[in-house]
Amino acid sequence: MIPARYGASRFPGKLMQDLAGKPVIVRTYEAAKATDLFEEVYVVTDSDVIFKEIEANGGKAIMSQKEHDCGSDRIAEAVEHMDVDIVVNVQGDEPFTSREGLEKVLAVFNEPDADKIDLASLMSEIHDWKEINDPNTVKVIVDKDNFALYFSRSPIPYPRDKNVAIQYYKHKGIYAFRKQAIMDFYRLPMRSLEAVEKIECIRYLEYGKNIKMAVSNTTGVEIDTPEDLVRANKLLKESKPDTVNNKFRNFPMVPKVVFGEGCFDQLTSILSSHKKEKAPFIFLVDDVFEKNTEFLDRINLRFNDKLIFISAEEEPKTSQVDDLVKDIKAEFTYAPSGIIGIGGGTVMDLAKAVSIMLINKGSAADYQGWDLVKQKAIYHVGVPTISGTGAEVSRTTVLTGPVRKLGINSDFTPFDQVILDPDLTIGVSKNQWFYTGMDCFIHCVESLNGTFLNAFSQSYGEKAYDLCLEIFLGDSLSEEESRAKLMMASWHGGMSIAYSQVGVAHAMSYGLGYVLGTKHGIGNCIVFQQLEEFYPKDVALFKQMVKKHGVEIPQGICKDLSIEQMDTMITVALGMVPLWENALGSNWEAIITPEKLRELYQKM
Ligand code: NAD
Ligand code: ZN
Repeated sequence: MIPARYGASRFPGKLMQDLAGKPVIVRTYEAAKATDLFEEVYVVTDSDVIFKEIEANGGKAIMSQKEHDCGSDRIAEAVEHMDVDIVVNVQGDEPFTSREGLEKVLAVFNEPDADKIDLASLMSEIHDWKEINDPNTVKVIVDKDNFALYFSRSPIPYPRDKNVAIQYYKHKGIYAFRKQAIMDFYRLPMRSLEAVEKIECIRYLEYGKNIKMAVSNTTGVEIDTPEDLVRANKLLKESKPDTVNNKFRNFPMVPKVVFGEGCFDQLTSILSSHKKEKAPFIFLVDDVFEKNTEFLDRINLRFNDKLIFISAEEEPKTSQVDDLVKDIKAEFTYAPSGIIGIGGGTVMDLAKAVSIMLINKGSAADYQGWDLVKQKAIYHVGVPTISGTGAEVSRTTVLTGPVRKLGINSDFTPFDQVILDPDLTIGVSKNQWFYTGMDCFIHCVESLNGTFLNAFSQSYGEKAYDLCLEIFLGDSLSEEESRAKLMMASWHGGMSIAYSQVGVAHAMSYGLGYVLGTKHGIGNCIVFQQLEEFYPKDVALFKQMVKKHGVEIPQGICKDLSIEQMDTMITVALGMVPLWENALGSNWEAIITPEKLRELYQKM
């Protein structure tokens, strides 16, 4: 519900002002619709000008029958006779409403304590004391479970002890209400705390309702003044339709790479020129090496450098990244000189994410998506110890977050330095070697058969594809040659998807990963063998490779899924829009329906 009053006191008629060719309110309506999070979107207004404008643009609008003091009352009147569970208010003057914040405020209703929640709202971190003191900025304090304790225009809490680290939060005016909560609000009279602070949502607290707060640090542009409008117009002009598959992309690549057996020993001298006084290097090392003293001795820890063992038992999570960053910040006064990841794709991705999050504030989950990272990451080095994922060269880090499994894909993600030493992969078990190697093979197949294919992707993809066939189906390579070639196949496979995308197997494998925790490589294999209709020639080759190496691909992993689990899996998979577009073209939704996915998953 987008409450829209024509006569805003500070900037009358602002909702009908032109914003790059359309009125502000129409932009807001379209932005809310485009999030794809709602079954219905309505503008609720007192103005027939706004009403007609929305209808003329193909939208849905409702006329308020009564005079209202505030947006919530306007919404309450509109939903009184509708059959709804959860109503979300979107401010009419926020044309840049993003999916991220709305998704977070809705996600709280899927958490275990959802029963207790009457409404949910958003807050963002503030650091500037001027902002904390500004009575126009509403501050909020929360309990340990993020339920709101109080909202105020005063700085809360009062910082009597300056040595206690405290995070201040500003309240953002986005709410998701259970219907009952908003109807109660409408009927209950205002009390004195609300009246004196002039903050609507205090009414809920005064009547004992529970407001759950979610953190969202993305900043939108509100149109409060004519100057805001000028700024917003400029912003729209500058932000070209930034879809994932836009035509020209200016890609960062890994600027430095060493290759060859034994080259790992170059690490110390490479790092020495990046050492900053008092600032440690942090080594994130796969815990498979924990007892391997011979290997660990080759990592020269100096001064206050720190080695942290990482379990690759589970794939990386945004919360794990946040915890690592918190620990590092707590232990060291100075930001590290660099982060060095030594391990498989799991450790590669963690190292990339940690180096970003040491500099960018908030949670890693705030940055899942394309180009959301604003500040350059800390110097980071990747040393792969298994080949196949291409994570050592890619522009992304795949993370499981509270609402989705998605990478932080940005210009600041790729490593500053990579060390490719094929000898480091000697200890990898046969199954693991196969699964991760097949990740590379599948990257190539999906890139080469995708609609995004171009000469750039093709040249890398074909090379990696041929290398995979030589390694997994040929008989002429020594083990040493095979290790070196697989390391380069991984690199080329990663480069191939940089300028294109992965496809059906990855989209479906993300679903398995999200619901069952199935690992990336094995998940791709489980899916891929069922994809004859999409990749017939390559699925046949894949089956030959499975046979030749006597590898077991797990069967029947979806047979005991509950209906909800299956639905979640399908939703996660369908959410990977760019992957489907690459695999099947812009008309993919006609081919891939939830039913189709269910049928495929049931075979796995
Ligand atoms: P992994 O990192 O999960 O490791 C698999 C297993 O191999 C672990 O048990 C690990 O301890 C062990 N291992 C690692 N090196 C070893 C060695 N030298 N000897 C013996 N054992 C060793 O596996 P992976 O397949 O390399 O990585 C999967 C991860 O990569 C997933 O999280 C996936 O999402 C991610 N990924 C990222 C990208 C990207 O572009 N960023 C691309 C594909 C996959
Ligand atoms: Zn992959």
